[in-house]
Amino acid sequence: MSKSKVLILGGGFGGLFTALELAGSADVTLVSDEDHFVFTPMLYEYLSGEVEAWHIAPNYNELLDNNVNFIQDRVKSVDLVAKSVSLTNSPERLNYDVLVVAVGGITNYVGVAGAEEFSIPFRKIQHADLLRQRMVAALDQIPPEMPPQDVRRELTFAVVGAGASGCELSTKMADLLNDAFKRRALQGEPRVLVIEMGDKVVPGMGSQIREFVEDALHESRVELHTLTKVVNVSADGVTFEHEGNREYLKTSAVVWTGGVRMNPLIESLDVEKNKRGLLIVKPTLQLAAHDNVFALGDIAYFEDAAPVLAGTAQLSFQQASLAATNIKALLSGKELHTKHFEELGEAISLGTERAAVLTGGKAFGGALARQARFALYTSRLPTWHHRLRVGASWFFEGTTPRPLLPLGFER
Ligand SMILES: Cc1cc2nc3c(=O)[nH]c(=O)nc-3n(C[C@H](O)[C@H](O)[C@H](O)COP(=O)(O)OP(=O)(O)OC[C@H]3O[C@@H](n4cnc5c(N)ncnc54)[C@H](O)[C@@H]3O)c2cc1C
Repeated sequence: MSKSKVLILGGGFGGLFTALELAGSADVTLVSDEDHFVFTPMLYEYLSGEVEAWHIAPNYNELLDNNVNFIQDRVKSVDLVAKSVSLTNSPERLNYDVLVVAVGGITNYVGVAGAEEFSIPFRKIQHADLLRQRMVAALDQIPPEMPPQDVRRELTFAVVGAGASGCELSTKMADLLNDAFKRRALQGEPRVLVIEMGDKVVPGMGSQIREFVEDALHESRVELHTLTKVVNVSADGVTFEHEGNREYLKTSAVVWTGGVRMNPLIESLDVEKNKRGLLIVKPTLQLAAHDNVFALGDIAYFEDAAPVLAGTAQLSFQQASLAATNIKALLSGKELHTKHFEELGEAISLGTERAAVLTGGKAFGGALARQARFALYTSRLPTWHHRLRVGASWFFEGTTPRPLLPLGFER
């Protein structure tokens, strides 16, 4: 008898981990638009060279054995009635018995003029590569004799959004740039700003972690502008508004970490959604009107989870296990389950030397927290084989940042 066809859309935390758990129990196909997974919590360390691409962005072919078919393509549309999916680069439609939708969100530029065209988003390996190139290119243009005030103007970087992403990124950038200043014997210091509409940093996190974040921004000499709204991004700068006053600032790069919005593929689905456009799923992760369709991760609204987990890898990867269990149950005619999801703790990278970790209600920071974060994340990487290789590499080869060297010396 032929096995049931399970089609998984999106190879992130939700889709990849579901595929890994289902491998061998059905005819499983994973479709994703990149050839590699990205462990996003460590994208900042990839920017700083503390980790390599193979550590945090392993190729699907290395992670999936022969039990899972992988197709690299962009999903164009889903027909829930015909139970088929169309792809961008192939005329053939893919049929399924069970569908898993886990395509994640996309960067939300909230309609700010020029933001999509001129700022750098920070979700993928290519984004980190581009930002690093821009930092190196900007540094390469500064001669050692340039006066400090001119240097500061020429080396200004703006990060939009002071959520965890904006704070992790800005402290990392500032530490890298400050280190490059010493190595290149430049005068003065670089300027890194975080621009935030709200009144505080990391609004989604508790006050214990916030204190560490505020200290780190200060120590890394990141300028924080709260209650400030970006209104325009152009090829060479950013315009923002604070208390009714507008200011234009010349920048070497603007990085956009200002939020996540709905994936257009989800917008095109005619099924029940909440006000934010998230797919409403039953406690089993199935869509109400389609028992053979499961949705999880950033695109799904799941009621029984701690509110702080919304839009996190923590939730997606816990849901993947439930989705895989329930798909196996559905295919064998057994009862489906549900689960309540709690926060597993918080960990945030703060510059190249330190981090902050909240676990068991207690927060700690500094170099020890940085080590603990590396250890914690080793255990969350996909597959035992990959975890062991990466763990050994970090243990034996270290995780020292790679300095921003002049172009030609960079690798
Ligand atoms: C820089 C950064 C740092 C983060 N740090 C943390 C953290 O420290 N802790 C935490 O809990 N969360 C963190 N997050 C959030 C976390 O990454 C997301 O919540 C999580 O990845 C969501 O998982 P998902 O499976 O829903 O989607 P994703 O992991 O985004 O995966 C979706 C996949 O689908 C693919 N895809 C999208 N559209 C299509 C299409 N049409 N066709 C084919 N493939 C498609 C995408 O390329 C991607 O591979 C971070 C996010 C970012 C960007």
